[in-house]
Amino acid sequence: MDHTHDPSRRSWVRSANAPTTDFPIQSLPYGIFRRRGESGARVGVAIGDQILDVTGCQQAGLFEGETEAAGRSCLPIGGPCALNPFMALGRPHWTALRRRLSDLLVDEGGSGADRKRVSRLLVPQVDAKMLLPSAIGDYTDFYASVHHATRVGRLFRPDQPLLPNYKWVPIGYHGRASSVVVSPAPVRRPAGQVRGQGSDAPRVVPTARLDYELEVGCFVGPGNERGTTIDIADAESHIFGLCLLNDWSARDIQQWEYQPLGPFLAKSFATTVSPWVVTLDALEPFRAPACPRPEGDPEPLPYLDSAASRERGGVEITLEVALRTAASRERGEPPVWLTRSQFAMMYWTFPQMLTHHASNGCNLRPGDLLASGTVSGPAETEGGCLLELTRGGAKPIGLPDGQTRTFLEDGDEVIIRGFCERPGFARIGFGECRGEVAAA
Ligand code: MN
Repeated sequence: MDHTHDPSRRSWVRSANAPTTDFPIQSLPYGIFRRRGESGARVGVAIGDQILDVTGCQQAGLFEGETEAAGRSCLPIGGPCALNPFMALGRPHWTALRRRLSDLLVDEGGSGADRKRVSRLLVPQVDAKMLLPSAIGDYTDFYASVHHATRVGRLFRPDQPLLPNYKWVPIGYHGRASSVVVSPAPVRRPAGQVRGQGSDAPRVVPTARLDYELEVGCFVGPGNERGTTIDIADAESHIFGLCLLNDWSARDIQQWEYQPLGPFLAKSFATTVSPWVVTLDALEPFRAPACPRPEGDPEPLPYLDSAASRERGGVEITLEVALRTAASRERGEPPVWLTRSQFAMMYWTFPQMLTHHASNGCNLRPGDLLASGTVSGPAETEGGCLLELTRGGAKPIGLPDGQTRTFLEDGDEVIIRGFCERPGFARIGFGECRGEVAAA
């Protein structure tokens, strides 16, 4: 940790000093934005209710010396702007740019020449459209919560909820990169093959069991050459930062198609990410030990284990899911909170997932997206999806206006939030990952 984490550090961007902001000067998450009415995409960092135009800072000559390469990587050269070139540079460059941006935004009493130039490069977040943070080449979804795996397994396979490989292998599947969208894009209800109970032939119908999955996403920094692996001790140098993620899932389609090769069309229609990527540097104060394994569980195999991984492989992120129905939105009512969960409880950490992913020589590339799998806690109320909260649709959730839900209905809006809090440090948030269900 360094001076950029100092909780007493305040910004001359006043909204960044509000105790409730997700984006204080200690965070500085990256995103790609477009000013309303303009066509070009730019790199920005969120600060309070503003965006600092990092691409504009580079064009204004605010980066030199150790931030020169980072600044140049934020220029849109010959194509649309995305964070991939910056993500590819690696931690020394990320840290250098973080320090420079923090120094440009810190309130040290005066109003230097830099502050005048920088204040012209602020864009109110309400005047910007957020785009995907990176051009995502590949997307992989893991299954790292043992509580989620056990509860869902119980519904699908009551005789054997947790398969014997779970505690040895960070289970994942290759997701679909082309349908990853950024919050708040609407999501159309998919249709697909569904087999009703007791019937032989499936029918093609709109899913009646549309669900969300509360997840954390991880953007890959520098990749690895095909045929090489990533040592667990080096895994974090390949992780740029984290975001919120909703792995939309059609449970009836999934139930029929998932054996023998895992999810396919039940998941590939849409995945939503939050627009701001919170860097590992910013998350440093909130690192936590990997979740201790219960007595009797196997230790991770050596390639997935290290002292550092045990001591600080986790990240304490409080995660919440809220639902707003079409009717409650019309009445102007706030969303209803469904779940609160904790990311530090995951059975596998992102360094373990990343190391495992590359352990066969599979090449990861800058801007690739990994997702954690549904973040569920041990309590029944901590399920990270409706499948768990309603026990497979058997136990509807009551909403304050008398409506009930087993799965999502058209017009429902799912809102995921996440934040980190620890005494002695500034609270940082992830913003929102939201999406509304459009009719089939
Ligand atoms: Mn998932």
